[in-house]
Amino acid sequence: MQLPELDDLYREVVLDHYRSPRGRAPLEHADVHNEGFNPVCGDEVRVALCFDAGRVAGVEVQGRGCSISVASGSMLAERLAGLAAAEVEGLAAAFKALMHGEPVPDGVDLGDLEALSGVRRFPVRIKCALLAWTTLEDALRAWQRGQAEPGRSSTTEDEGERS
Ligand code: ZN
Repeated sequence: MQLPELDDLYREVVLDHYRSPRGRAPLEHADVHNEGFNPVCGDEVRVALCFDAGRVAGVEVQGRGCSISVASGSMLAERLAGLAAAEVEGLAAAFKALMHGEPVPDGVDLGDLEALSGVRRFPVRIKCALLAWTTLEDALRAWQRGQAEPGRSSTTEDEGERS
């Protein structure tokens, strides 16, 4: 495991999440789940959510790989409880903006995720930081399509402006 040269404070936050990842307890029932793989680094992640009354009631993240990918998945697990699906998407978009060096929308509190901003200086590791989030976004989109069109399987992929 190689951790890029992060500032000491950020490094501590990332290592804490890496050593004791949140969200490892299996969910009994998942409304949304997906698996992601980052071939560049070998990171793997499985993300699952369950909703209750339109809000995230449980999060499970099983990650294997480098410290950055595992820590990012752990932060995801920690942040999502109680959020509506649209808020989850907003948080994911804000974190992507942070990692791409773009302005983060006002009113979004990234919390521990800020600690990963130092990874921007190591472009090949940005995918590690985003893996859990892009995996989650894909799962949410598929779930929302399923809800919008009950009984219809989604055979067409509508991937508009992916960056
Ligand atoms: Zn990685």
